[in-house]
Parts: sequence; structure tokens; C-alpha cells
Amino acid sequence: MTTVGILGGGQLARMLALSGAPLGLRFLVMDTVADACAGQFAPMIVGDWRDERALSEFASKIDVATFDFENVPAESAQWLAERVPVFPSPRALAVAQDRLAEKTLFRELGIPVPPFSAIDSREGLDAALATIGTPCILKTRRLGYDGKGQFRLKSLADADAAWDALGGQARTVGLILEGFVAFDKEVSVVGVRGRDGEFRAWPLTQNWHVDGVLSASLAPAPVSQELEDKAIAHARALADALDYVGVFALELFCRDGELLANELAPRVHNSGHWTIEGSETSQFQNHLRAVLGLPLGATRMVGEACMLNWIGTMPDPNAVLAEPGGHWHDYGKEARAGRKVGHATLRANTPQELAQTLARVGKKLGRESQVEPVIAALR
Ligand code: ATP
Ligand code: MG
Ligand code: MG
Repeated sequence: MTTVGILGGGQLARMLALSGAPLGLRFLVMDTVADACAGQFAPMIVGDWRDERALSEFASKIDVATFDFENVPAESAQWLAERVPVFPSPRALAVAQDRLAEKTLFRELGIPVPPFSAIDSREGLDAALATIGTPCILKTRRLGYDGKGQFRLKSLADADAAWDALGGQARTVGLILEGFVAFDKEVSVVGVRGRDGEFRAWPLTQNWHVDGVLSASLAPAPVSQELEDKAIAHARALADALDYVGVFALELFCRDGELLANELAPRVHNSGHWTIEGSETSQFQNHLRAVLGLPLGATRMVGEACMLNWIGTMPDPNAVLAEPGGHWHDYGKEARAGRKVGHATLRANTPQELAQTLARVGKKLGRESQVEPVIAALR
């Protein structure tokens, strides 16, 4: 019996555990809080990431470790890797944890990126503003997620406000200034690389964010084959360079047919949740296969798919469950503003049918504004 240890016990760990059951796997989750939602399906160890006693207990009970949470301290991941196999590697994790390191690697690999500059002082911010210009975004280098730790500057007059908001973190998590990309689309490549280096990617996904948080994902993204091939080639180059093992997502902006890389998520990703019902093998199943050294499953789609995120509170499931291609995911979390509490995936045979399904569900739930941009993209 193989036990997979997962660092972090959120919905990603929960969906990994659910998808691993048919493989006969057992799971052990470690999290810093006792009510983490994966704990409803898997035994859990509660402890701080730097708590050596908790980490030792975790290591002693598992055969392999992986992540639901990308911000586990790199030293803790390294400590664990000296005791059990850890995938992705602590090195890949460390690169993806730091926006400066990941953007530097993108550039070295010839993957285009928006202009960026590390910022460590107020004078440094002024100097970077002079070269990057406005609009731009000041971000924390580490620990940001769901658009947290970011300040958008429309003009140079916003520099004081940006520094007031984030300057205090320049010495702790570090800061980076990035040019603002007036993108016409956001897309992501969800890819998987096995222990033997085999690489596969799911069809490109188009994503819509509201206030920095993912709201909807559509696959396949309505883009040219050439653009899709280029995005997947970038993802593959990145995975090879990091000797990456497992599933990851590469987020990209698309502007006038050009791709600019935003960030790398070193784990299963929200923009890949549609793969549970919309593809031959889900991202969760393939992640487990990759970290266990098993053959990878096919990533082809089985229909057109759209995922809608539920943020804050769960809507009434009936509108989705009444649809022939409607699938419901409730993470079993308490409602809280801004929190990802569940999602739905709608699947159909044609883009037209998917657009009609989305229109019905959006209307019944009073969430027209969430489905409207997806319907427009399907036209
Ligand atoms: P995630 O939850 O995806 O990990 P995050 O907090 O790491 O989010 P980003 O992905 O960098 O943050 O930014 C969140 C969203 O903000 C992006 O998906 C995009 O919509 C917008 N955004 C971020 N950086 C830029 C940029 N340079 N130009 C334009 N929009 C941007
Ligand atoms: Mg991120
Ligand atoms: Mg992102």
C-alpha cells in the first residue's frame, strides 16, 4: 500500500485524494490548520511547516511527498527531500516561489515576459518606474496568491501610495515591478512531466479573473493552433529546464497574437479543474501518476468544458445538477469573503451547446456577469 504525503490540505489536496482512490492509494495530509478541507477525506497531521517533529512524523508515514500549497518554506521541502522522494523537487519549488527567479528563468529560456525589475528601496522604485513606465504593477516577490500583495500604478503619482502599501515588505518577501500588459486574453498551459521526462499538456485553457481571482476557465481556448503550439512549447521548455516532475500551470498573457509569461504554479492548478470531467485523464490523476512513476494518461478532451469558480459562498447546486453536462464540486469549506469554496464544470459536445448551457445556468443563478465573457468567447 503506497501512501502519498501532501503538504497543504486545501481543495487541491482534497481533489488529489479523491482521484487517487481508484489507484488504491492512501494519503496523509499536513497542514497548519486543523479544519483544512482535505482532512475530511484523508488523515492529517497539524503542524507548522518549520516544526521538525511534525515533519518527521509526516516523513515516517509516507512513501512520497508532493504539494497542494506552493509556499511551504523551501528549507522544509529540502529537509523532507533528504528523507523521502519529493516531487516536484525543492529546486523547482524555490524558483516558482519567487517571481524574480521565475521571470529570470523564463527570459533565459527565450520565453517572452513583461518588463520587470526587482525593487528594494523607494529610490529603486523611482528608478524602475523611469524605465518600465506606467501603467505597471508592484508585487511582492514571494507569498502572493489570488492577486494579494499587488498594487496597480496608473501613473507616477501613484508611487507614494504603492510604496505605502507594499514598501514595508521590501526587506521581508521582496518586491518586483512589472509592466502592465493590456492583454486581449489570459491563457494557461496545464502540463505534466513524468519521472522519466515524458511530457504532456492538456489543450490550452482561457481564463477570466475578477479582482485578481480566477472566475472562469474555458477549454479548449479559442486560439489558433500556432499560438497553442507556442504556449505548450514554452511550458515544455520550462518543465525540462527544471527537471520538473508532476503537474504545473504556466500562466500567459496573450496580446496581439504574442504570448508573455506571467507565472508558474508548481502544482495542480485551478485552471485545470475542468480536466476532471472534460478530459480523458484529470490533472489530479496525472499528477499522482507522475510522482509515483506510473505511465501518464491521455490529456485529450472529451467535449468542450467551462469551469466556474464559486468564491465566498456556494450557490444553489440544482441549476448545475439539472444540466446533462453539469458537475458540482463543493469543497466542504465554511463560507468566507474571497475564499474559493467550490466550482462547477459544464461540459457539452459543441461550443454552441456549451454557450447555451452557460446562459441557462448563469440566468438561474443570477450570475450572468460571470458567464457572459465566456459566452462571448464561444461565439
Ligand atoms: P494566482 O492566484 O494566479 O497565483 P497571483 O496572486 O500569483 O495569482 P498573478 O497571477 O500575478 O497573481 O496576478 C493575478 C491576476 O492579475 C492575473 O491573472 C492578471 O489578470 C492580473 N495581472 C497580474 N500581473 C499583470 C500584468 N503584469 N499585466 C496585466 N495584468 C496582470
Ligand atoms: Mg500565483
Ligand atoms: Mg496567477
